[in-house]
Amino acid sequence: MTYRQDAIDALERAKIELASSEYHRLKYGVLELRFAIEMLSYDKLSWLSEKTDISEFKSWQPDKVVRLVDQFLPTSSINGTLTIHDSDKKEIFSGKTRALQLIDIKKNYHALGSFLHSLTIEKRETPDDEISSKINQKCKEIIPTIESILSCQVYGLRFGSDVEFDCHNLRCKKKIFTQIAPGNEATHIECLHCQTEYKLTPDGKHVNIDPKLFMRDCGAGECKGLLKFFTMDVGEKAVCSDCESEAIIIKTQLNTDFIDEKIIEKPEKNETILTVYLK
Ligand SMILES: [Zn+2]
Ligand SMILES: [Zn+2]
Repeated sequence: MTYRQDAIDALERAKIELASSEYHRLKYGVLELRFAIEMLSYDKLSWLSEKTDISEFKSWQPDKVVRLVDQFLPTSSINGTLTIHDSDKKEIFSGKTRALQLIDIKKNYHALGSFLHSLTIEKRETPDDEISSKINQKCKEIIPTIESILSCQVYGLRFGSDVEFDCHNLRCKKKIFTQIAPGNEATHIECLHCQTEYKLTPDGKHVNIDPKLFMRDCGAGECKGLLKFFTMDVGEKAVCSDCESEAIIIKTQLNTDFIDEKIIEKPEKNETILTVYLK
């Protein structure tokens, strides 16, 4: 059973419930439509799970899931027509693709959720058929969107150049996967595990990988070297490229309204403690 099939089944059940004029059954129709949207978003997440570890994100809600997948599979939210030509430029296939997009969730998922509460005192005074017709109206707007996603000729389209590398942050080193859409000059992504940010720039057949670094003066003795940090999180270490002193970020009790840093001690061997005064 795939998430897509689950979405198809939920949509069918929704239609049956929504055909009823009874308020208590309409609520189940609303619920099934929400399930269908959830299943479509989890299906998108499963495409990413083929390439990278998503275990930390399995409990995420649809909007966060789609935003995450869009970052690493940037073409997975494209709507349009895919046409394939053979070597003689003769068209051999043409089909429409309709993807679940963030806007579909923002517009529909939360709107459906608003029907899933017990009636407020104010709404209890509204006639039942007026509430039922409101629910039916909203669902009638949403069903075609879900149907067009489920029935499009090219479902699950995603393409681009695959890029894979180990996170440069020494505390992480986890595998990072992303796709770069054709024609994209630069892509910005974030490591899913340590949040180090990267700028990826295609350069011919290669891709330049530039992590965003926080540069700090080494300051050990007379050293003029630099320490390169990836996230500036407490506990992150960096080794000076000049004197090879190791620095670690530790949290202080000081609550100041500026950010500054200084070396406070040099306890043993080449180890240096860097204290960052956090806001
Ligand atoms: Zn990382
Ligand atoms: Zn140094």
